[in-house]
Amino acid sequence: MGKPEIKSRILSLKKTKDVVILAHNYQLPEIYDVADFVGDSFELAIKARETQAKTIVFCGVHFMAESAKILNPEKKVVIPDLNAGCFLADTVDAVSLREKKKEHPDAAVACYINSTAEVKAECDVCVTSANAAKVVRGLSAKKIIFVPDQHLGGWVAEQVPEKEIILWGGNCYVHARILLKNVEEAQKNYPEAMTIAHPECPKEIREKADEVLGTGGMVRYVKESPAKQFLIATENGMLERLKREAPGKKFFALCGECLNMKKITLEKVLSSLEKDLFEIEVSDQIAEKAKLALEKMIELTKA
Ligand code: 13P
Ligand code: SF4
Repeated sequence: MGKPEIKSRILSLKKTKDVVILAHNYQLPEIYDVADFVGDSFELAIKARETQAKTIVFCGVHFMAESAKILNPEKKVVIPDLNAGCFLADTVDAVSLREKKKEHPDAAVACYINSTAEVKAECDVCVTSANAAKVVRGLSAKKIIFVPDQHLGGWVAEQVPEKEIILWGGNCYVHARILLKNVEEAQKNYPEAMTIAHPECPKEIREKADEVLGTGGMVRYVKESPAKQFLIATENGMLERLKREAPGKKFFALCGECLNMKKITLEKVLSSLEKDLFEIEVSDQIAEKAKLALEKMIELTKA
């Protein structure tokens, strides 16, 4: 079956089965074409929480689909490939986090949404790249354990100097591997271009950027900016999203690709719709606690 036929089957099954397809900005362009909404982690969590559809097909990585299930437990949530994980989320587990909490009993715990439900259940609040500084600033505790991304945590610490941030050592290989010399060379080659970096980038890369933004912030920024060229320091699938949102502007990639995000294909989405696979399940005990951390994030983001 060719791609156009797969697309039309997906679109018709979506209607008959009362399904909403949510897709992350890093997904393949063919996935954008069948999605009801494409966005960043925070926007997707909000959409998942509000949808009236019976089933959510989540095109992204596992922690995103899991968060959707936690925020809207009445709905069936499926991910087209159960192996679409996140290497960053795998750098912390609940047992080691409990040990860290024992070392700092007076600290609140904030976790990046890129973490498992078990880790979220150990935390006071979640954050995403879109709201991390605001959420951490809004916590009453002075001392905060921040897991798992050391670079996002470092960026938060720079912006919220009134708090003591205890960092975890995790990072995302996609962003951590960006080389300073490549950024400098690209900036030399495109002197007119604005450089935008994701907060998961190491400090030396963030320091070279004109703006540090999550993927949703990047979309808004390139649309509004008078600049015509942009160097993008985040997963390279983002370039297609930016091109669609700001046609006529030029984008250059500074980053590689997230293998997990690219595991979701049109063929797998169709199979997922036909067979209702693969369903995300979270135990009630974990989901209840993890939901508190996600809801606290939403409350502090709105404040
Ligand atoms: P955003 O929340 O900025 O979309 O980031 C998610 C992510 O996984 C970045 O690597
Ligand atoms: Fe995880 Fe990095 Fe992929 Fe984002 S880009 S989903 S942080 S591995």
